[in-house]
Amino acid sequence: MSEPSASEPRSDDAKVVVDGVGKVYESERQRVRALSGVDFTVDDGEFVCLVGPSGCGKTTLFRTIAGLEAATDGEIRLDGDPVTGPGTDRGMVFQEYGLFPWRTVRENVAFGLEEQGVPEPERSSRVGEMLGLVGLAEFADAYPKELSGGMKQRVGIARALAVDPEILLADEPFGSVDAQTRDMLHEELLRIWSETEKTVLFVTHDVEEAVKLSDRVVVMAADPGRVSEIVDVDLDRPRERTEPAFADYVDRIRTLIGE
Ligand code: ADP
Ligand code: MG
Repeated sequence: MSEPSASEPRSDDAKVVVDGVGKVYESERQRVRALSGVDFTVDDGEFVCLVGPSGCGKTTLFRTIAGLEAATDGEIRLDGDPVTGPGTDRGMVFQEYGLFPWRTVRENVAFGLEEQGVPEPERSSRVGEMLGLVGLAEFADAYPKELSGGMKQRVGIARALAVDPEILLADEPFGSVDAQTRDMLHEELLRIWSETEKTVLFVTHDVEEAVKLSDRVVVMAADPGRVSEIVDVDLDRPRERTEPAFADYVDRIRTLIGE
């Protein structure tokens, strides 16, 4: 195989390729076009946020990439292979945590490893490593109801990463926590991202959150859900909201969204 030249599109070696994806929800009573002609790529190790107004199809796109929903047109490719269903190559984090209330923190994090048949002592060792990564080692035997929202979401992240997925997919994961906790979780997630070198695709309607986190922001518009622009966030990390350049990106993306 020859080396790709600089003039070739980046999609050739992209981790995720979203290729002409459309989605129509059809029932007997109605037909909703949620997505139309969505094209973008995510490179290996890249942190990409999807932003856009409510109803522009962010969750639909997330679920399609996750393999929970089938595209009506086009396809998603992960490492070159079309996505046809859910798989352990994609770790998912949801806004409402989705933890099993009857399982302890440790047992929640172990879930995917059990599904994969990973034996002891490897399983416990991996769970321990993940709990260390998200700073919850001391809460291994607690139940979700004993945890704050921020801690629950750290369990969600640990559970998603335990099976060592190729990509971390998150749909408004910090939408249910207060602003101060959210700031802390941003720092945590960026640290985890740099330690694990994972590819991250993160959905949010919060423009500041997108500018804080991402290498690139895919800005979406509604009716039908589509990509309106892709913005490269060329800011050093750590990023401060108070920096003028940060505020410029936020303004620019808000204008694109029409906020
Ligand atoms: P977002 O996450 O950006 O708010 P969604 O992907 O949830 O957007 O929704 C996009 C559009 O698709 C909306 O018009 C929504 O009402 C519609 N939609 C989402 N899920 C379904 C579904 N299961 N059945 C029918 N319509 C749906
Ligand atoms: Mg949504």
